[in-house]
Amino acid sequence: MNSIIKYFDLHQFNNSFEPTLSAELLRVTRSGWYLQGEATANFERAFAAYCGTSYCIGTGNGLDAITLIFLGYQELGLMQEGDEVIVPANTFIATLLGVMRAGLRPVLCEPCPDTCNIDPSLVERLITPRTRALLAVHLYGRLADMEALRSIADKHGLMLVEDAAQAHGAQLTDNSSKGSRQDTDKAPLLRAGGLADAAAFSFYPAKNLGALGDGGAVTTSDSKLASLVRSLGNYGSKEKYIHRYRGVNSRLDELQAAALSVKLPRLDDDNARRRAIVEKYLKGINWERTGLRTTCPHLLPDESNVYHIFPIFSAEREELCQRLTEQGIHTQIHYPIPPHRQQALRATYGSLHLPITERIHREELSLPISPLLTDEEVERIISAINETATRK
Ligand SMILES: *Cc1c(COP(=O)(O)O)cnc(C)c1O
Repeated sequence: MNSIIKYFDLHQFNNSFEPTLSAELLRVTRSGWYLQGEATANFERAFAAYCGTSYCIGTGNGLDAITLIFLGYQELGLMQEGDEVIVPANTFIATLLGVMRAGLRPVLCEPCPDTCNIDPSLVERLITPRTRALLAVHLYGRLADMEALRSIADKHGLMLVEDAAQAHGAQLTDNSSKGSRQDTDKAPLLRAGGLADAAAFSFYPAKNLGALGDGGAVTTSDSKLASLVRSLGNYGSKEKYIHRYRGVNSRLDELQAAALSVKLPRLDDDNARRRAIVEKYLKGINWERTGLRTTCPHLLPDESNVYHIFPIFSAEREELCQRLTEQGIHTQIHYPIPPHRQQALRATYGSLHLPITERIHREELSLPISPLLTDEEVERIISAINETATRK
């Protein structure tokens, strides 16, 4: 009997940072200082440098990071309640909820079927006099087409924001900085988080860079926005008991920041291992015979993609999923129901029909992609898929 291959074994993954992880957590536990201290400041400095931005502000989670960016832009007078933000229709619901909680209206744009990311050629027709921003999601770890989005944003005077919750470390491979509006002297490091006016990250435990609970961050090189986001996430206060804005409580805590600082130095290696696993999947799976598809069917994996998720698409998804489960291979679906079809948003989007998005959500199946999968495990998954999908 074959052992089980979990979709993502978090226990194994977090154990691989021992004994340093526990030692750092214990150090914070014993310090008596749990919020807004040295561990958070150190992580924020390291993550800003990693993303190539001037600022990083820790938040309670990724959803809050999105909300705080848009609340910040409203305090800066760049947007007001009821304004529109164009977002991809196929994303995790948090992208939309983050915008809505800030009092703005997400306008849904269909993706490119090849990348599952927002299709820039469909964006302009959605722009109205109330549009204020484009919110790109780097879905599954693949960078959205930031160059095309930047030129649309500039042409129409819109802010460009990244939901980078699935793309920690994703790097632009070309050496231009066209996606970025940063005015820094240094050559910018072209990583997710530094490719737009501001970016939101989540450190949900299973993300490529994950905490041991909830956590998030905003990265930006805009000093005014950075200062507002920090203050809005801290009860609208910069100085204790002086409240300038109606803020919320959304802070990264010292324990989570310490854990993230232990994990950040290995992120590039982990992402490289994810790419190596994808290379095996791309070469090993018999795409033609099985009739399965994936995004951008290149023979070699895209260097800029950090493969938070490796998606395959099948019209017989449920059957394939069940057969793999029977062989001890666990998969997941990202996501079974698109946001506009969720009960929570039915009143907002009603009978909106988005065929590309709906098809992605109907056919997507995510294969295991933990950086700690062994080559043997990857081979077992490939054989199981090739056998299962042929045996009909
Ligand atoms: C995970 C995720 C979020 C939300 O992050 P939380 O930390 O869970 O609030 C937002 N957007 C996308 C695309 C995500 O994958």
